[in-house]
This record gives sequence, structure tokens and C-alpha cells, in this order.
Amino acid sequence: MQPLELLREAARRQLETGGIAAARESVDILLAAALGRDRAFLHAHPEYQLNSRELACFTAWMERRLRGEPAQYILGRQEFYGREFEVSPAVLIPRPETELLVEAALEKAGALRGSSAPVRIVDVGTGSGCIAITLALELAARGQAAGILAADISPAALALAEKNARRWQAAVEFQPSDWLDAWREQAAIFDLIVSNPPYIPESELDGLQREVREYEPRVALLAGETGLENYARLLPAALRLLAPGGWLILEMGYRSAAGVRDWFADWAAIETRFDLQGWPRVMLAGKKPLDARAMPPWTGRKE
Ligand code: GLN
Repeated sequence: MQPLELLREAARRQLETGGIAAARESVDILLAAALGRDRAFLHAHPEYQLNSRELACFTAWMERRLRGEPAQYILGRQEFYGREFEVSPAVLIPRPETELLVEAALEKAGALRGSSAPVRIVDVGTGSGCIAITLALELAARGQAAGILAADISPAALALAEKNARRWQAAVEFQPSDWLDAWREQAAIFDLIVSNPPYIPESELDGLQREVREYEPRVALLAGETGLENYARLLPAALRLLAPGGWLILEMGYRSAAGVRDWFADWAAIETRFDLQGWPRVMLAGKKPLDARAMPPWTGRKE
């Protein structure tokens, strides 16, 4: 039997030779999971001898990882905003960039605190539910009342998101919906509309990392030819469904922001949040507040 340290090194070389991204990270995640330990154990016990069950488990997972399958799908989980979420090939693996969207939504929700009414939020295309569930838990922790809905067109995604919500006991209601179509007849019912919609142009599919291209759901990744199609679909519905002073908060493809800026002429404010690489990653669009001096009184009619 090989001690853990040698096995770890050999596995890392095997993944590197196989052209697998983040080889060391992948090995450590899978190895720690096979042992049922955290990653610190790997550093603390280089001499540990795996038993045959642990070795068989690790070997089977390594074979899947060598074929390009993301470690998150192999293990069925991913951390987001400090919490673990169950993931499956039916949903996008939550990304750290999306935490920026959560931060932005928390900030705007906090600004609405003045009114005693619960802040009304919908997460469109919820996938694993990571955004809606995190918002529900973080707002509850801050003592802010909220009514949170999460929508998705995919029944498999909704089922998984509901499971994640139950696991975290998050107060989120789920709604099957193609974008905001479930609320087609309504107006001014949300304070925040948040979404991380698919934004990769179809022509860029071939250039994506193998893990993403071959394993993540296309319905969660790809927009149309330009990558902006989903924003075009969301914007008019969001403008109708937001209450005056509400915010639409969208994650963007790293080159999308410039393409959509001109579409916000009817909105009162535009803000941008940048990711660690310096790309505009989250766009916030504020609906005009109800202001008697500037606008006729709000009647709740459709715009
Ligand atoms: N809302 C989910 C997330 O941010 C899913 C997004 C998607 O599938 N495009 O991870």
C-alpha cells in the first residue's frame, strides 16, 4: 500500500498529464472526500495508509475526473457563500463571481429597510437555488423580513433547489417559470429581481473549458448568438414587475456589459460591480422611484 503522500503526488501527475485543470485542487478534494476528512488531514498525515475501500472510492472518482467530469458533480456538492449546496448535472455549478451578485442584492435590500414591509425578491433561473437560498438566510440573519421566490424552467433544477432550501431551512418559494412569464399579468410586485442568466454566446461553446462544455447543462450556459438574448428578454418584464425604486440585479458575461448599457434608457440608475479580474460582472438597474415632482402618481398599471 502506498502512503497518502505518494498517492497524492502520483494522482496529481496523472491529472496533469491528462490535461485536467486544477489538478492538485481536484486530487485534494476527491482524496479528502474519499477519506471522509477535510483537506487539512492530507497535510497533517502524509504517512496515512488508505484502506481498500477508501482506495477503491478514490480510484473510481479519479477515473471520472480524468474524463473531464468536474469534481463538484462527482461529489454532488459545491460551496457558495460559505455554505454547501447539493449540485447535479441538471444545474450550473455555483461560481464565486456570483457571490458579488448576492452582495449587491443584500446591499439594495438593506437600503429598502426603512419601510416595514418585507422586501420582495425573485431569483430568475435559480438553478441550484444558491442565490435565493443565500439571500433568504443572510436577510434572516440580519433580521430583515423578506418574501423570496425562485423560478426556473427546469423541473430537475427546481427539485434540487427545493432540496437545498429544505436542507438549509431557507424560506424560499419555488415557481416553475420560463423567465418571468409566470407573472405575465402582474406589475410592480417585486422590490428586487436578481438573475444569473445564461450569457455565453453559442459560438463560444467550443472555446469553453472541457469541464464546462461537456458536463454543465447547456440550458444554464448558453444564450443565443450574441449572449445578450436573455437580457433582452428579462429587461421589459423586469421593468413592469419591479415596484418604483426597485432594482434589477444581473450577472453578466465578462464582455456583455457594454452591449446592454444602451438598453437601460427607461431606468433611473445604473451601477456596475467588478470582479477580481476587473471585468464588469454585475449590473444593477434601478427603476425610477415614485416621485410626485417628477412623475404622475403610481397607479399600479402596466407600463
Ligand atoms: N442561479 C444559478 C447560479 O447562479 C444558476 C445560474 C444559471 O444556471 N445560469 O448558480
